[in-house]
Amino acid sequence: AVRVRFAPSPTGFLHLGGLRTALYNYIFAKKHQGSFVLRLEDTDQTRLVLGAAENIEDMLEWAGIRPDESPRRGGPAGPYQQSQRLALYAQATEALLQSGAAYPCFCSPQRLELLKKEALRSHQTPRYDNRCRNLSRAQVAQKLAQDPKPAIRFRLEEEAPAFQDLVYGWSRHEVASVEGDPVILKSDGFPTYHLACVVDDHHMGISHVLRGSEWLVSTSKHLLLYKALGWQPPHFAHLPLLLNRDGSKLSKRQGDIFLEHFVAAGFLPDALLDIITNCGSGFAENQMGRTLPELVTQFDLTRITCHSALLDLEKLPEFNRLHLCRMVNSETQRRQLVGRLQALVEEAFGSQLQDRHVLHPAYLERIILLRQGHICRLQDLVSPAYSYLWTRPAVDRAQLDATSEKVDVIAKHVLGLLERSGMSLTQEVLNGELKKLSEGLEGIKHSNVMRLLRVALSGQPVSARTPCG
Ligand code: GLU
Repeated sequence: AVRVRFAPSPTGFLHLGGLRTALYNYIFAKKHQGSFVLRLEDTDQTRLVLGAAENIEDMLEWAGIRPDESPRRGGPAGPYQQSQRLALYAQATEALLQSGAAYPCFCSPQRLELLKKEALRSHQTPRYDNRCRNLSRAQVAQKLAQDPKPAIRFRLEEEAPAFQDLVYGWSRHEVASVEGDPVILKSDGFPTYHLACVVDDHHMGISHVLRGSEWLVSTSKHLLLYKALGWQPPHFAHLPLLLNRDGSKLSKRQGDIFLEHFVAAGFLPDALLDIITNCGSGFAENQMGRTLPELVTQFDLTRITCHSALLDLEKLPEFNRLHLCRMVNSETQRRQLVGRLQALVEEAFGSQLQDRHVLHPAYLERIILLRQGHICRLQDLVSPAYSYLWTRPAVDRAQLDATSEKVDVIAKHVLGLLERSGMSLTQEVLNGELKKLSEGLEGIKHSNVMRLLRVALSGQPVSARTPCG
């Protein structure tokens, strides 16, 4: 059975890059009736960010990419936080020590620092010189007496195996000569990423590892660990990077890549998932407006290419506009929008509302039906351009006079027309009547009539415009 995992480190809040990795894992799992597991890789205790673990789960929920197993939901392969699985890493380390595939390292932090500095001075990549690799039993026993908790390193003696990555094809990365033997268990008993990831993917029964391409070079190392532990490795599929439109890195310092930003700005989860999949690959064709269930049915892992995905966030409002229209067309979702709009109006205009009937669901629904397609986000309806929908606009005489000549004549006629026809006017009838009216008034253009009406009713000189029209 297909089992995949999203394994972020709670060292920061969920951002677009993470969302994309989670999404591809989710749609791959659902496509194959498999399970999607969330695992928090919190072994670097110094880099933990308060609230990040909660934020990651909250944001996945928000996006509709709900894990089948996670720290919050639990599951048969838990616990789902690495800091609660230390016994498993210790057990694997013990096995590696027994077989001689791992060894204790007594090098002091100062010595390692010195090695690093020397390498950097001669413009080389820092590499551990494997000094403790060949200590005799007696030497180890003697050192253990002074330093009972050494770090444990993995012996990278073998040549790295080549493997078939499901996206990048045959891959092989030389590891031994580059970095030297890696630490797998630190002296504080916490594992490093490589060991923890391999142990967990094995014990959690992960069948496919779909992760960012920055981890491609680590895979050879992981495969050596699988071999040394006598375990069958999963399949690997590395996802090309998600970059800005200009090819630059999506920087976490740009505040607007965190999911909370998009939630607060009123973007819909489906719009975000849609734009992310449209700039990447994995589908027969790019197509705007797909919802999550459609992404699941149309996804095809073999169609992921190794080209980076260039994300143009300026198009997000347009994606959102489409998804808003889709929601408006579904009765249940429209009702949700009405509820949300009600909350937005209360929040933005609460104390200024002269007429509480604007909060009535029927009124709100009419506004949504009339403006869908013109607005990008529901929030746009409470922007200043639309404030006249909720509060009486302040219009003064000077403003009206500036709109057109013969204001009084036009106003008198329009009022007369409204009084005559009562409240039964539909949009078409009213348009026709107004046209007739301007034709009957000598020297007054239809556009003057309309402009005057707009200013009188909305206080706005031009019709409301939002970023996408
Ligand atoms: N904890 C790693 C990360 O933050 C996970 C890498 C992997 O998926 O193996 O991206």
